Amino acid sequence: MRKPKALIFEISRPGRQGYSLPTCDVPAKPLEQLLPEPLRRSAVPGLPELSETEVIRHFTELSTRNFGVDTGFYPLGSCTMKYNPKVNEETAALPGFAFLHPCQPEETAQGALELLYNMEQGLKELTGMERFTLQPAAGAHGELTGLMVIQAYHRSRGDLKRNKVLIPLSAHGTNPATVSMAGYEVVQIPCDERGLVDLEALKAAVDDTTSALMLTNPSTLGLFEEEIVEMAKAVHEAGGLLYYDGANMNAIMGYTRPGDMGFDVVHINIHKTFSTPHGGGGPGGGPVGVKERLVPFLPVPLVDKRGEGFTFNYDLPESIGKMHAFYGNFGVVVKAYTYLRMLGADGLKQASSDAVLNANYLMSLLKKTYHLPYDRTCKHEFVLSARPEKKKGAGAGDIAKALLDRGFHPPTVYFPLIVEEALMVEPTETESKETLDAFARTMEDIAREIDEDAEKIVHGPYHTVVGRLDEVRAARSPVLRWPSS
Ligand SMILES: *Cc1c(COP(=O)(O)O)cnc(C)c1O
Repeated sequence: MRKPKALIFEISRPGRQGYSLPTCDVPAKPLEQLLPEPLRRSAVPGLPELSETEVIRHFTELSTRNFGVDTGFYPLGSCTMKYNPKVNEETAALPGFAFLHPCQPEETAQGALELLYNMEQGLKELTGMERFTLQPAAGAHGELTGLMVIQAYHRSRGDLKRNKVLIPLSAHGTNPATVSMAGYEVVQIPCDERGLVDLEALKAAVDDTTSALMLTNPSTLGLFEEEIVEMAKAVHEAGGLLYYDGANMNAIMGYTRPGDMGFDVVHINIHKTFSTPHGGGGPGGGPVGVKERLVPFLPVPLVDKRGEGFTFNYDLPESIGKMHAFYGNFGVVVKAYTYLRMLGADGLKQASSDAVLNANYLMSLLKKTYHLPYDRTCKHEFVLSARPEKKKGAGAGDIAKALLDRGFHPPTVYFPLIVEEALMVEPTETESKETLDAFARTMEDIAREIDEDAEKIVHGPYHTVVGRLDEVRAARSPVLRWPSS
Protein backbone atom coordinates (compact mmCIF):
# COMPACT_ATOMS: atom_id res chain seq x y z
CA MET A 1 0.00 0.00 0.00
CA ARG A 2 1.15 3.54 -0.76
CA LYS A 3 2.34 4.90 2.56
CA PRO A 4 0.27 7.90 3.63
CA LYS A 5 2.28 10.95 4.56
CA ALA A 6 2.41 11.95 8.19
CA LEU A 7 -0.80 13.52 9.43
CA ILE A 8 -0.79 17.28 9.66
CA PHE A 9 -1.04 17.08 13.46
CA GLU A 10 2.07 14.92 13.67
CA ILE A 11 4.31 17.39 11.84
CA SER A 12 2.98 20.31 13.87
CA ARG A 13 5.67 22.13 15.98
CA PRO A 14 4.75 24.60 18.73
CA GLY A 15 5.28 28.19 17.63
CA ARG A 16 5.73 27.44 13.92
CA GLN A 17 3.74 29.81 11.73
CA GLY A 18 2.65 30.21 8.13
CA TYR A 19 2.63 34.02 8.32
CA SER A 20 4.35 36.86 10.10
CA LEU A 21 2.67 40.14 10.90
CA PRO A 22 4.34 43.38 11.94
CA THR A 23 4.31 44.16 15.65
CA CYS A 24 0.97 45.50 16.75
CA ASP A 25 1.11 49.30 17.04
CA VAL A 26 -2.40 49.89 18.42
CA PRO A 27 -3.63 48.96 21.91
CA ALA A 28 -4.73 45.31 21.94
CA LYS A 29 -8.35 44.79 22.96
CA PRO A 30 -9.09 42.15 25.58
CA LEU A 31 -10.89 39.08 24.21
CA GLU A 32 -14.03 39.87 26.24
CA GLN A 33 -14.55 42.99 24.16
CA LEU A 34 -14.04 41.23 20.86
CA LEU A 35 -16.25 38.18 21.30
CA PRO A 36 -19.53 37.79 23.18
CA GLU A 37 -19.52 35.16 25.90
CA PRO A 38 -21.29 32.32 24.06
CA LEU A 39 -18.71 32.44 21.26
CA ARG A 40 -15.67 32.30 23.54
CA ARG A 41 -13.87 29.03 24.29
CA SER A 42 -12.26 28.26 27.59
CA ALA A 43 -9.15 26.75 25.98
CA VAL A 44 -7.15 27.59 22.88
CA PRO A 45 -8.18 25.15 20.12
CA GLY A 46 -5.44 22.60 19.41
CA LEU A 47 -4.83 23.61 15.81
CA PRO A 48 -1.70 22.34 14.09
CA GLU A 49 1.16 24.82 13.81
CA LEU A 50 2.89 24.70 10.44
CA SER A 51 4.70 26.72 7.83
CA GLU A 52 2.90 27.68 4.63
CA THR A 53 4.97 25.19 2.61
CA GLU A 54 3.90 22.37 4.88
CA VAL A 55 0.24 23.30 4.64
CA ILE A 56 0.39 23.48 0.83
CA ARG A 57 2.15 20.12 0.63
CA HIS A 58 -0.38 18.57 2.97
CA PHE A 59 -3.43 19.66 0.99
CA THR A 60 -1.82 18.99 -2.39
CA GLU A 61 -0.96 15.47 -1.25
CA LEU A 62 -4.53 14.93 -0.05
CA SER A 63 -5.85 16.04 -3.45
CA THR A 64 -3.81 13.31 -5.16
CA ARG A 65 -5.45 10.58 -3.12
CA ASN A 66 -8.70 11.03 -4.97
CA PHE A 67 -9.62 9.44 -8.27
CA GLY A 68 -11.46 11.62 -10.75
CA VAL A 69 -12.31 11.73 -14.41
CA ASP A 70 -9.34 14.08 -14.82
CA THR A 71 -7.09 11.36 -13.35
CA GLY A 72 -8.11 8.39 -15.41
CA PHE A 73 -10.75 6.18 -17.04
CA TYR A 74 -13.94 6.13 -14.99
CA PRO A 75 -16.45 3.67 -16.50
CA LEU A 76 -18.94 3.90 -13.63
CA GLY A 77 -22.15 2.62 -15.23
CA SER A 78 -25.30 4.76 -15.02
CA CYS A 79 -23.16 7.72 -13.92
CA THR A 80 -21.88 9.00 -17.29
CA MET A 81 -18.48 10.12 -16.06
CA LYS A 82 -17.60 11.91 -19.27
CA TYR A 83 -14.90 14.55 -19.42
CA ASN A 84 -16.02 17.93 -18.03
CA PRO A 85 -14.74 20.59 -20.46
CA LYS A 86 -12.87 23.31 -18.56
CA VAL A 87 -14.46 26.06 -20.64
CA ASN A 88 -17.66 25.33 -18.68
CA GLU A 89 -15.88 26.50 -15.54
CA GLU A 90 -14.74 29.67 -17.23
CA THR A 91 -18.21 30.70 -18.35
CA ALA A 92 -19.74 29.88 -14.94
CA ALA A 93 -17.05 32.02 -13.32
CA LEU A 94 -17.72 35.08 -15.50
CA PRO A 95 -18.36 37.91 -13.03
CA GLY A 96 -21.71 38.73 -14.67
CA PHE A 97 -22.93 35.26 -13.71
CA ALA A 98 -20.92 34.46 -10.60
CA PHE A 99 -21.62 37.71 -8.75
CA LEU A 100 -25.34 37.96 -9.50
CA HIS A 101 -27.56 38.22 -6.48
CA PRO A 102 -30.71 36.09 -6.67
CA CYS A 103 -32.81 38.99 -5.35
CA GLN A 104 -31.55 41.41 -7.98
CA PRO A 105 -34.36 43.09 -9.98
CA GLU A 106 -35.19 41.23 -13.19
CA GLU A 107 -34.26 44.13 -15.41
CA THR A 108 -30.67 44.03 -14.12
CA ALA A 109 -30.32 40.28 -14.73
CA GLN A 110 -31.67 39.95 -18.26
CA GLY A 111 -28.62 38.02 -19.48
CA ALA A 112 -29.07 35.36 -16.82
CA LEU A 113 -32.79 35.08 -17.54
CA GLU A 114 -32.07 34.76 -21.23
CA LEU A 115 -29.64 31.94 -20.50
CA LEU A 116 -32.26 30.11 -18.41
CA TYR A 117 -34.79 30.65 -21.19
CA ASN A 118 -32.44 29.42 -23.91
CA MET A 119 -31.44 26.38 -21.85
CA GLU A 120 -35.11 25.50 -21.60
CA GLN A 121 -35.52 25.82 -25.38
CA GLY A 122 -32.58 23.46 -25.92
CA LEU A 123 -33.93 20.86 -23.51
CA LYS A 124 -37.40 21.08 -25.05
CA GLU A 125 -35.99 20.42 -28.49
CA LEU A 126 -33.91 17.47 -27.28
CA THR A 127 -36.74 15.80 -25.36
CA GLY A 128 -39.95 16.79 -27.15
CA MET A 129 -41.51 18.40 -24.09
CA GLU A 130 -43.58 21.57 -23.81
CA ARG A 131 -41.91 23.32 -20.85
CA PHE A 132 -39.13 22.78 -18.32
CA THR A 133 -38.35 23.80 -14.78
CA LEU A 134 -34.63 24.11 -14.06
CA GLN A 135 -35.06 24.12 -10.28
CA PRO A 136 -34.37 20.54 -9.14
CA ALA A 137 -30.83 20.07 -7.84
CA ALA A 138 -30.30 16.45 -8.89
CA GLY A 139 -31.86 13.47 -10.63
CA ALA A 140 -33.65 12.16 -7.56
CA HIS A 141 -34.91 15.67 -6.83
CA GLY A 142 -36.23 15.87 -10.38
CA GLU A 143 -38.00 12.53 -9.90
CA LEU A 144 -39.78 13.84 -6.83
CA THR A 145 -40.72 17.05 -8.65
CA GLY A 146 -42.06 15.06 -11.62
CA LEU A 147 -44.12 12.70 -9.49
CA MET A 148 -45.55 15.64 -7.51
CA VAL A 149 -46.59 17.25 -10.80
CA ILE A 150 -48.26 13.99 -11.86
CA GLN A 151 -50.01 13.77 -8.50
CA ALA A 152 -51.25 17.36 -8.80
CA TYR A 153 -52.57 16.62 -12.28
CA HIS A 154 -54.62 13.59 -11.18
CA ARG A 155 -55.93 15.47 -8.15
CA SER A 156 -56.97 18.47 -10.25
CA ARG A 157 -59.24 16.11 -12.18
CA GLY A 158 -60.72 14.64 -9.02
CA ASP A 159 -59.05 11.35 -9.91
CA LEU A 160 -58.06 10.40 -6.38
CA LYS A 161 -57.67 6.62 -6.39
CA ARG A 162 -54.43 6.48 -8.38
CA ASN A 163 -52.03 5.44 -5.63
CA LYS A 164 -49.58 3.20 -7.53
CA VAL A 165 -46.50 3.75 -9.67
CA LEU A 166 -45.20 0.93 -11.87
CA ILE A 167 -41.44 0.40 -12.08
CA PRO A 168 -39.50 -2.31 -13.92
CA LEU A 169 -37.10 -4.52 -11.97
CA SER A 170 -34.15 -3.02 -13.85
CA ALA A 171 -34.90 0.47 -12.44
CA HIS A 172 -32.36 2.73 -10.76
CA GLY A 173 -32.63 2.63 -6.96
CA THR A 174 -33.74 6.24 -6.72
CA ASN A 175 -36.98 5.40 -8.59
CA PRO A 176 -38.64 3.22 -5.92
CA ALA A 177 -37.28 5.56 -3.21
CA THR A 178 -38.89 8.57 -4.92
CA VAL A 179 -42.17 6.71 -5.41
CA SER A 180 -42.37 5.97 -1.67
CA MET A 181 -41.40 9.52 -0.79
CA ALA A 182 -44.19 10.89 -2.97
CA GLY A 183 -46.59 8.70 -0.98
CA TYR A 184 -47.17 6.11 -3.70
CA GLU A 185 -47.09 2.35 -3.64
CA VAL A 186 -44.41 0.68 -5.82
CA VAL A 187 -45.54 -2.03 -8.24
CA GLN A 188 -42.60 -3.93 -9.70
CA ILE A 189 -42.80 -5.14 -13.30
CA PRO A 190 -40.56 -8.09 -14.20
CA CYS A 191 -38.17 -8.19 -17.15
CA ASP A 192 -38.25 -10.95 -19.77
CA GLU A 193 -35.37 -13.13 -20.95
CA ARG A 194 -34.19 -10.35 -23.28
CA GLY A 195 -33.73 -8.05 -20.28
CA LEU A 196 -36.59 -5.83 -21.51
CA VAL A 197 -39.78 -4.93 -19.64
CA ASP A 198 -42.28 -7.80 -19.85
CA LEU A 199 -45.06 -6.14 -21.87
CA GLU A 200 -47.73 -8.68 -20.92
CA ALA A 201 -46.93 -8.33 -17.22
CA LEU A 202 -47.13 -4.57 -17.60
CA LYS A 203 -50.52 -4.74 -19.32
CA ALA A 204 -51.79 -7.01 -16.55
CA ALA A 205 -50.60 -4.60 -13.85
CA VAL A 206 -52.08 -1.40 -15.32
CA ASP A 207 -55.50 -0.33 -14.01
CA ASP A 208 -57.42 2.67 -12.74
CA THR A 209 -55.19 2.88 -9.64
CA THR A 210 -52.09 3.42 -11.81
CA SER A 211 -50.77 6.94 -11.43
CA ALA A 212 -47.74 6.47 -13.66
CA LEU A 213 -45.22 4.16 -15.22
CA MET A 214 -41.67 5.22 -14.41
CA LEU A 215 -39.13 4.06 -16.93
CA THR A 216 -35.55 4.55 -18.08
CA ASN A 217 -35.01 4.02 -21.80
CA PRO A 218 -32.43 2.78 -22.60
CA SER A 219 -32.68 0.84 -19.34
CA THR A 220 -29.92 0.48 -16.77
CA LEU A 221 -28.93 -2.67 -18.68
CA GLY A 222 -28.10 -0.34 -21.57
CA LEU A 223 -30.91 -1.88 -23.63
CA PHE A 224 -33.49 0.03 -25.62
CA GLU A 225 -37.08 -0.80 -24.69
CA GLU A 226 -38.36 -1.58 -28.17
CA GLU A 227 -41.98 -1.90 -27.10
CA ILE A 228 -42.16 1.52 -25.52
CA VAL A 229 -44.94 2.74 -27.83
CA GLU A 230 -47.20 -0.20 -26.86
CA MET A 231 -46.34 0.34 -23.18
CA ALA A 232 -47.28 4.01 -23.45
CA LYS A 233 -50.56 3.09 -25.13
CA ALA A 234 -51.46 0.61 -22.37
CA VAL A 235 -50.72 3.12 -19.59
CA HIS A 236 -52.49 6.04 -21.28
CA GLU A 237 -55.58 3.98 -22.07
CA ALA A 238 -55.91 3.25 -18.36
CA GLY A 239 -55.64 6.97 -17.56
CA GLY A 240 -52.06 6.81 -16.23
CA LEU A 241 -49.08 8.95 -17.21
CA LEU A 242 -45.52 8.06 -18.25
CA TYR A 243 -42.46 9.32 -16.40
CA TYR A 244 -39.10 9.18 -18.17
CA ASP A 245 -36.01 8.87 -16.01
CA GLY A 246 -33.66 10.69 -18.37
CA ALA A 247 -30.65 10.71 -16.07
CA ASN A 248 -28.69 9.17 -18.92
CA MET A 249 -29.67 10.78 -22.21
CA ASN A 250 -26.23 9.98 -23.53
CA ALA A 251 -27.33 7.30 -25.99
CA ILE A 252 -30.27 9.03 -27.62
CA MET A 253 -29.53 12.73 -28.17
CA GLY A 254 -30.62 13.68 -31.67
CA TYR A 255 -31.83 10.14 -32.39
CA THR A 256 -35.07 9.81 -30.45
CA ARG A 257 -36.99 11.80 -27.85
CA PRO A 258 -38.94 10.77 -24.76
CA GLY A 259 -41.76 13.06 -25.91
CA ASP A 260 -42.04 11.08 -29.15
CA MET A 261 -41.96 7.75 -27.29
CA GLY A 262 -45.11 8.82 -25.42
CA PHE A 263 -43.68 10.12 -22.14
CA ASP A 264 -45.49 12.95 -20.32
CA VAL A 265 -42.77 13.94 -17.84
CA VAL A 266 -38.98 13.70 -18.06
CA HIS A 267 -36.08 14.61 -15.85
CA ILE A 268 -32.56 15.07 -17.12
CA ASN A 269 -29.29 14.94 -15.20
CA ILE A 270 -27.26 17.84 -16.51
CA HIS A 271 -24.40 16.61 -14.30
CA LYS A 272 -24.29 13.44 -16.38
CA THR A 273 -25.30 13.96 -20.00
CA PHE A 274 -24.37 17.66 -20.14
CA SER A 275 -20.91 17.32 -18.67
CA THR A 276 -21.12 19.29 -15.43
CA PRO A 277 -18.94 17.80 -12.68
CA HIS A 278 -20.45 15.32 -10.24
CA GLY A 279 -19.58 12.82 -7.60
CA GLY A 280 -19.18 13.77 -3.98
CA GLY A 281 -22.75 14.97 -3.66
CA GLY A 282 -23.20 18.00 -5.85
CA PRO A 283 -24.10 20.58 -6.80
CA GLY A 284 -26.01 19.13 -9.73
CA GLY A 285 -29.05 19.82 -11.82
CA GLY A 286 -32.17 17.77 -12.58
CA PRO A 287 -34.43 19.84 -14.88
CA VAL A 288 -37.95 18.47 -15.34
CA GLY A 289 -39.88 18.77 -18.59
CA VAL A 290 -43.58 18.11 -19.12
CA LYS A 291 -46.15 17.89 -21.88
CA GLU A 292 -48.68 20.68 -22.32
CA ARG A 293 -51.43 19.41 -19.99
CA LEU A 294 -48.98 19.29 -17.07
CA VAL A 295 -47.48 22.77 -17.49
CA PRO A 296 -49.88 24.44 -14.98
CA PHE A 297 -48.46 22.27 -12.18
CA LEU A 298 -44.74 23.03 -12.66
CA PRO A 299 -42.82 24.75 -9.84
CA VAL A 300 -42.72 28.56 -9.92
CA PRO A 301 -41.27 30.69 -11.31
CA LEU A 302 -40.99 29.84 -14.99
CA VAL A 303 -38.94 32.12 -17.23
CA ASP A 304 -41.06 33.69 -19.98
CA LYS A 305 -40.16 35.89 -22.91
CA ARG A 306 -42.14 39.14 -23.02
CA GLY A 307 -41.46 41.28 -26.03
CA GLU A 308 -37.69 41.70 -26.21
CA GLY A 309 -37.12 40.90 -22.53
CA PHE A 310 -37.37 38.02 -20.10
CA THR A 311 -39.34 37.76 -16.91
CA PHE A 312 -40.10 35.38 -14.03
CA ASN A 313 -43.63 34.06 -14.19
CA TYR A 314 -45.14 33.25 -10.79
CA ASP A 315 -48.68 33.21 -12.12
CA LEU A 316 -49.38 29.46 -12.00
CA PRO A 317 -52.24 29.03 -9.51
CA GLU A 318 -52.06 25.22 -9.66
CA SER A 319 -48.26 25.05 -9.29
CA ILE A 320 -46.80 22.51 -6.83
CA GLY A 321 -44.84 25.47 -5.42
CA LYS A 322 -41.10 25.74 -5.09
CA MET A 323 -38.65 22.84 -5.15
CA HIS A 324 -35.42 24.79 -4.58
CA ALA A 325 -34.43 28.20 -3.30
CA PHE A 326 -34.63 30.81 -6.04
CA TYR A 327 -34.06 29.27 -9.50
CA GLY A 328 -32.02 26.13 -8.83
CA ASN A 329 -28.26 25.72 -9.11
CA PHE A 330 -27.72 28.52 -11.59
CA GLY A 331 -23.94 27.99 -12.00
CA VAL A 332 -24.52 24.37 -12.98
CA VAL A 333 -27.04 25.46 -15.60
CA VAL A 334 -24.45 27.89 -17.03
CA LYS A 335 -21.98 25.00 -17.37
CA ALA A 336 -24.53 22.72 -19.04
CA TYR A 337 -25.64 25.52 -21.37
CA THR A 338 -22.03 26.11 -22.39
CA TYR A 339 -21.75 22.41 -23.22
CA LEU A 340 -24.94 22.51 -25.31
CA ARG A 341 -23.77 25.54 -27.25
CA MET A 342 -20.20 24.26 -27.72
CA LEU A 343 -21.49 21.03 -29.29
CA GLY A 344 -24.64 22.27 -31.02
CA ALA A 345 -27.30 19.90 -32.36
CA ASP A 346 -24.87 17.99 -34.61
CA GLY A 347 -22.27 17.72 -31.88
CA LEU A 348 -24.73 16.29 -29.37
CA LYS A 349 -25.85 13.70 -31.90
CA GLN A 350 -22.22 12.83 -32.54
CA ALA A 351 -21.61 12.52 -28.78
CA SER A 352 -24.44 10.00 -28.55
CA SER A 353 -23.27 7.93 -31.50
CA ASP A 354 -19.70 7.89 -30.14
CA ALA A 355 -20.93 6.90 -26.67
CA VAL A 356 -22.88 3.98 -28.15
CA LEU A 357 -19.98 3.00 -30.40
CA ASN A 358 -17.53 3.04 -27.47
CA ALA A 359 -19.86 0.94 -25.32
CA ASN A 360 -20.40 -1.65 -28.05
CA TYR A 361 -16.70 -1.78 -28.88
CA LEU A 362 -15.74 -2.36 -25.26
CA MET A 363 -18.56 -4.87 -24.81
CA SER A 364 -17.36 -6.86 -27.82
CA LEU A 365 -13.85 -7.02 -26.32
CA LEU A 366 -14.94 -7.93 -22.79
CA LYS A 367 -17.51 -10.55 -23.68
CA LYS A 368 -14.66 -12.77 -24.90
CA THR A 369 -13.55 -13.10 -21.28
CA TYR A 370 -16.54 -12.20 -19.10
CA HIS A 371 -20.11 -13.43 -19.05
CA LEU A 372 -22.57 -11.07 -20.77
CA PRO A 373 -26.06 -12.14 -19.63
CA TYR A 374 -27.99 -10.00 -22.15
CA ASP A 375 -26.01 -10.30 -25.34
CA ARG A 376 -27.66 -7.64 -27.51
CA THR A 377 -26.48 -4.43 -29.13
CA CYS A 378 -26.21 -2.05 -26.21
CA LYS A 379 -26.68 1.69 -25.98
CA HIS A 380 -24.53 3.81 -23.62
CA GLU A 381 -23.60 0.98 -21.26
CA PHE A 382 -23.64 -2.80 -20.75
CA VAL A 383 -23.72 -5.15 -17.80
CA LEU A 384 -21.39 -8.12 -17.29
CA SER A 385 -21.83 -10.79 -14.63
CA ALA A 386 -18.83 -11.91 -12.56
CA ARG A 387 -20.74 -14.98 -11.37
CA PRO A 388 -18.23 -17.42 -12.94
CA GLU A 389 -15.33 -15.51 -11.30
CA LYS A 390 -17.18 -15.50 -7.98
CA LYS A 391 -17.33 -19.29 -8.16
CA LYS A 392 -13.56 -19.29 -8.57
CA GLY A 393 -13.27 -17.18 -5.43
CA ALA A 394 -13.26 -13.50 -6.48
CA GLY A 395 -16.45 -11.60 -7.36
CA ALA A 396 -17.47 -8.22 -8.76
CA GLY A 397 -16.31 -6.31 -5.68
CA ASP A 398 -12.88 -7.97 -5.80
CA ILE A 399 -12.50 -7.18 -9.50
CA ALA A 400 -13.35 -3.56 -8.66
CA LYS A 401 -10.54 -3.42 -6.08
CA ALA A 402 -8.11 -5.03 -8.53
CA LEU A 403 -8.95 -2.35 -11.09
CA LEU A 404 -8.21 0.42 -8.57
CA ASP A 405 -4.79 -1.15 -8.06
CA ARG A 406 -4.18 -0.98 -11.80
CA GLY A 407 -5.10 2.70 -12.26
CA PHE A 408 -8.72 2.42 -13.38
CA HIS A 409 -11.88 3.44 -11.62
CA PRO A 410 -14.10 0.35 -11.45
CA PRO A 411 -17.46 -0.04 -13.15
CA THR A 412 -20.60 0.13 -11.01
CA VAL A 413 -20.86 -3.14 -9.07
CA TYR A 414 -23.83 -5.15 -7.75
CA PHE A 415 -26.28 -3.04 -9.74
CA PRO A 416 -28.68 -3.50 -11.49
CA LEU A 417 -30.02 -6.07 -9.08
CA ILE A 418 -31.37 -8.38 -11.77
CA VAL A 419 -27.80 -9.37 -12.74
CA GLU A 420 -25.87 -11.44 -10.22
CA GLU A 421 -22.37 -10.08 -9.46
CA ALA A 422 -23.10 -7.20 -11.83
CA LEU A 423 -20.33 -5.10 -13.40
CA MET A 424 -22.01 -2.20 -15.16
CA VAL A 425 -19.69 -0.51 -17.63
CA GLU A 426 -20.26 2.92 -19.23
CA PRO A 427 -17.21 4.17 -21.12
CA THR A 428 -18.76 7.44 -22.50
CA GLU A 429 -17.85 9.15 -25.76
CA THR A 430 -14.86 11.03 -24.42
CA GLU A 431 -12.48 8.05 -24.24
CA SER A 432 -10.04 6.97 -26.93
CA LYS A 433 -9.74 3.52 -28.47
CA GLU A 434 -6.36 3.16 -26.77
CA THR A 435 -7.93 3.72 -23.35
CA LEU A 436 -10.70 1.21 -24.05
CA ASP A 437 -8.13 -1.34 -25.27
CA ALA A 438 -5.99 -0.82 -22.17
CA PHE A 439 -9.01 -1.29 -19.90
CA ALA A 440 -10.02 -4.48 -21.73
CA ARG A 441 -6.48 -5.87 -21.43
CA THR A 442 -6.47 -5.10 -17.72
CA MET A 443 -9.82 -6.82 -17.24
CA GLU A 444 -8.41 -9.85 -19.10
CA ASP A 445 -5.32 -9.82 -16.87
CA ILE A 446 -7.53 -9.80 -13.79
CA ALA A 447 -9.60 -12.74 -15.10
CA ARG A 448 -6.37 -14.66 -15.68
CA GLU A 449 -5.10 -13.85 -12.21
CA ILE A 450 -8.37 -15.07 -10.71
CA ASP A 451 -7.86 -18.37 -12.56
CA GLU A 452 -4.33 -18.62 -11.21
CA ASP A 453 -4.72 -17.32 -7.66
CA ALA A 454 -8.07 -15.82 -6.67
CA GLU A 455 -6.85 -15.40 -3.07
CA LYS A 456 -4.37 -12.79 -4.19
CA ILE A 457 -7.11 -10.70 -5.84
CA VAL A 458 -9.33 -11.07 -2.78
CA HIS A 459 -6.70 -9.47 -0.56
CA GLY A 460 -6.13 -6.45 -2.81
CA PRO A 461 -5.84 -3.59 -3.39
CA TYR A 462 -2.10 -3.37 -2.71
CA HIS A 463 -1.15 0.02 -4.18
CA THR A 464 -3.90 2.41 -3.12
CA VAL A 465 -3.69 4.84 -0.20
CA VAL A 466 -6.22 2.86 1.78
CA GLY A 467 -6.91 -0.85 1.51
CA ARG A 468 -10.25 -2.55 2.07
CA LEU A 469 -12.46 -0.38 4.15
CA ASP A 470 -15.01 -1.71 6.55
CA GLU A 471 -17.74 0.18 4.72
CA VAL A 472 -20.45 -0.59 7.25
CA ARG A 473 -18.35 0.57 10.18
CA ALA A 474 -17.20 3.63 8.27
CA ALA A 475 -20.84 4.62 7.76
CA ARG A 476 -22.10 3.66 11.22
CA SER A 477 -19.28 4.93 13.38
CA PRO A 478 -17.12 7.31 11.39
CA VAL A 479 -13.98 8.69 13.04
CA LEU A 480 -13.99 12.36 12.15
CA ARG A 481 -11.57 13.75 14.76
CA TRP A 482 -7.84 13.59 15.33
CA PRO A 483 -6.66 12.34 17.71
CA SER A 484 -9.53 9.88 17.47
CA SER A 485 -9.84 9.22 21.19
C1 LIG B 1 -27.93 8.83 -11.60
C2 LIG B 1 -29.30 8.35 -11.84
C3 LIG B 1 -30.38 8.82 -11.07
C4 LIG B 1 -30.21 9.74 -9.88
O1 LIG B 1 -29.60 10.95 -10.14
P1 LIG B 1 -28.93 11.80 -8.96
O2 LIG B 1 -28.53 13.07 -9.60
O3 LIG B 1 -27.79 11.00 -8.45
O4 LIG B 1 -29.98 11.99 -7.90
C5 LIG B 1 -31.64 8.36 -11.40
N1 LIG B 1 -31.83 7.47 -12.38
C6 LIG B 1 -30.83 6.98 -13.12
C7 LIG B 1 -31.11 5.99 -14.22
C8 LIG B 1 -29.52 7.40 -12.88
O5 LIG B 1 -28.50 6.90 -13.58
